[in-house]
Amino acid sequence: MIQLDNISRTFQVGDQQVLALREVSLSIAAGEYIAIMGPSGSGKSTLLNLLGLLDRPDSGRYTLDGRDVTGLTEVETARVRREKIGFVFQFFHLVPRLTAAANVALPLLLAGVPAAERKPRVAQLLAEVGLSERAEHLPSQLSGGQLQRVAIARAMSMHPALLLADEPTGNLDRATGREVMSVLEGLNQRGATLIVITHDQEVGARARRRIVMEDGRILHDGAT
Ligand code: ADP
Ligand code: MG
Repeated sequence: MIQLDNISRTFQVGDQQVLALREVSLSIAAGEYIAIMGPSGSGKSTLLNLLGLLDRPDSGRYTLDGRDVTGLTEVETARVRREKIGFVFQFFHLVPRLTAAANVALPLLLAGVPAAERKPRVAQLLAEVGLSERAEHLPSQLSGGQLQRVAIARAMSMHPALLLADEPTGNLDRATGREVMSVLEGLNQRGATLIVITHDQEVGARARRRIVMEDGRILHDGAT
């Protein structure tokens, strides 16, 4: 599904060059469940952002489902992202003024799904993450675990084949983190490729493959 060849990403900070990724090569098959681990600053988020087409490499090639997506235009990139990729973040990134249902509906709205179709799909998505009762709540009225479940429902709204999560349990207590991971794992069991950045050894051990980053490189990649 994913093939990275010699991907590098440098950030210019003042007059300093930060080498966030150094010629990373990686291949990932459809349906995998992968944990990305490693110290802070090792390049995990940079790697996930590139995989999610939220960022571009300086050099190297990214092939997604057999198509080179490295040189796509902004418009083409946005379309691939919308059709194939769901993203879950540590701090949820919900729109504060929109209800849970409206947050989940947002990608459908942007994709031009008609209102009559959106409603039942949003209801279904909220039911899948156990939040039917919270549809009309604002983010400020929800707990951390509920917020993350809304974010997962939003990420799944376009049925993406690739689900990327950057420390999805990093802001949750352990029990809530387990709940959130089991929702994500359920989606993986139903076929989505799941890639999760985590500092939690327990989460790391549940994945079937672990990639350990250090200083912009893959230090270790293997079965857990
Ligand atoms: P991790 O997620 O493993 O903590 P990151 O991928 O966020 O690491 O960062 C890798 C390196 O790149 C760090 O040195 C970080 O400071 C730097 N970096 C990441 N994003 C940016 C950015 N937008 N601008 C400047 N430097 C960045
Ligand atoms: Mg990070």
